[in-house]
Amino acid sequence: MNATEPAEETVQGGYPASPSADALDRLVVLLVDDQRMVAEGIRRMLASEDDVTFHYCDDPRDAVAMAQEIRPTVILQDLIMPEMDGYTLVNDYRADEQTRDIPVIVLSTKEDPKDKSKAFERGANDYLVKLPDRIELIARIRAHSRSFLAHQALREMQVCLEQSNAELKKLSCMDGLTGIFNRRRFDEFLRKECQRSARDDSPLSLILIDIDFFKPYNDHYGHLAGDDCLRKVARALDEVVHRAADLTARYGGEEFAVVLPNTDSDGAQRIAQSLCDKIRSLALPHEHSQAADIVTISMGVVTRVACDRTDPADLINLADAALYRAKESGRNRYVVVDEGA
Ligand code: GH3
Ligand code: MG
Ligand code: MG
Repeated sequence: MNATEPAEETVQGGYPASPSADALDRLVVLLVDDQRMVAEGIRRMLASEDDVTFHYCDDPRDAVAMAQEIRPTVILQDLIMPEMDGYTLVNDYRADEQTRDIPVIVLSTKEDPKDKSKAFERGANDYLVKLPDRIELIARIRAHSRSFLAHQALREMQVCLEQSNAELKKLSCMDGLTGIFNRRRFDEFLRKECQRSARDDSPLSLILIDIDFFKPYNDHYGHLAGDDCLRKVARALDEVVHRAADLTARYGGEEFAVVLPNTDSDGAQRIAQSLCDKIRSLALPHEHSQAADIVTISMGVVTRVACDRTDPADLINLADAALYRAKESGRNRYVVVDEGA
């Protein structure tokens, strides 16, 4: 603080707003002491330090609230005050989430090893006898503040990293075009569900879905319209499949997959019928389809029955074969097989 900038002085009680979070090189000192003489002495010692903002609290009962508000980078703490002793206050800073990491330099009137060890036990970081030597005080304020700020910056970076990791993980599971899950997530999900189905002896159904005559759709309406169609179909499929345990994914190109844990063949057929109806209800014009004058889908439906095999490839191959039969027998329909078939 510079003596020509009285706005920064807070000895008279008022104090400036909390420093902005990006002022990383700004050192903020909070002195808690009932004696205004001490405050004046410390203020003078720091007056020539341009990067140090000084705040003063003369009532220890306000200290935690004030520290929460101004977020000091170091607290200078008196030990003996009429309303409250400094040891208790150090405890209070440590108990509060917003103030627990702020370094505390205890300012004591005596150099008593018992007081010192008590202060350190309660969580103080340093101990000085007042009034301390100016050079030493400034050096300690700087050292504690900088290590505090470095620690804070590291923490913020850690939080950012965790957030971007979570975001990346999410993105790595999603299909960029349609916004539903991608093939990678599908593979992982189906593998786990196959194992669970074998372990619990519970049914597991898989539906493979393929848009009918999609190549002519692209050829006629253009690739961008094709992309748009894929997005609409994906969203519609995802709307039909609504149980929390289910998964809808883009399997590749114009193919989609639906995994239905704990769902028997009857249940899977009901879903397949709903998927068929839903896509028809979109009524997306398709003049070059030989199956209808709108976009339609064909599906292969398979249900895993009780057996020891847990290889997801078995299920996929069976669903694929059923899908092929749905195409062969006229498209715009589903064909069902049992894994045991
Ligand atoms: P079928 O009824 O037998 O399924 O015929 P089809 O024309 O749908 O099948 P085919 O596998 O021959 O063609 C699939 C087409 O899907 C080919 C390709 O142009 C299109 N396609 C695949 N991925 C994308 C994509 O990301 N965007 C767009 N617009 N088209 C895609
Ligand atoms: Mg295909
Ligand atoms: Mg197709």
